[in-house]
Amino acid sequence: MDLGIAGKKALVCGASSGLGYACAKALVREGAQLVIVARTEGPLREAAAELAALGTGPVAWVAADVASEEGRARIFAAHPEFDILVTNAGGPPPGDFRHWDREAWLRAIDANMLAPIELIKATLDGMLARGFGRIVNITSSAVKSPVDGLGLSVGARSGLTGFVAGLARSTVARGVTINNLLPGTFDTQRLAGNFAAQAQREGRSVEEVRAARLAKHPAHRFGQPDELGHTCAYLCSAHAGYINGQNLLMDGGSFPGVF
Ligand code: NAP
Repeated sequence: MDLGIAGKKALVCGASSGLGYACAKALVREGAQLVIVARTEGPLREAAAELAALGTGPVAWVAADVASEEGRARIFAAHPEFDILVTNAGGPPPGDFRHWDREAWLRAIDANMLAPIELIKATLDGMLARGFGRIVNITSSAVKSPVDGLGLSVGARSGLTGFVAGLARSTVARGVTINNLLPGTFDTQRLAGNFAAQAQREGRSVEEVRAARLAKHPAHRFGQPDELGHTCAYLCSAHAGYINGQNLLMDGGSFPGVF
């Protein structure tokens, strides 16, 4: 299927690895003109070169922290207009809420709630004026199914989810959709890091932790980033203009409810 987004200008955040990279890959294969962002220049530059080899032209990159005002300002100074926006950043650390002070909460809110809102603020009016826009926020299955210990993530992302639910209703009549993608457990560097931390905490091997999690999963496997990337590209496609304000769970059926 031709997704109808060749030549569209796309900003993909958190795109040097993992889920963001997979979204960038799927979009570049559709002929979108990419600008990718992550904080660390080396891996970002490599990712841009790999992505350029898959697409039809160069892939631009900006090494920036999307959680900082200065970082976002540099992105938009270099590239003011976008038709597609994929918001994404690292998730906050897990832990016991008794140990989180105001600073810990503000860091989570900055990265996982205010950064996407500011990125939307910087891109939305141009999309509305041109009559086409696709915004996808990568959030987490924990928004739908909160887990004790992930309070910083759930708290900040729930704020974003509520905000987007209202905003999306005001943009769709002018061709701009806003949706959230909620990953369950995907095989990325972050997941490997989480397993390593859990193994250390529990005095078990990483393989044991991984195997125990897989055994409980209805799919008996973790998601592959490309599966999420292709779904993201579809939500960004010309065909997805009537999908709006949704929270699309991608967890291989882990969530036990009907809806
Ligand atoms: P990942 O493999 O660690 O990749 C994160 C990417 O984002 C990297 O390119 C990283 O590069 C970049 N990044 C992190 N913080 C950034 C910032 N402040 N500004 C700009 N770029 C930033 O992580 P992932 O597994 O793909 O996860 C992506 C998001 O989905 C996270 O928020 C995570 O919590 C959420 N999520 C993931 C899963 C899963 O199973 N993987 C499940 C639920 C939710 P730099 O470090 O160089 O900036």
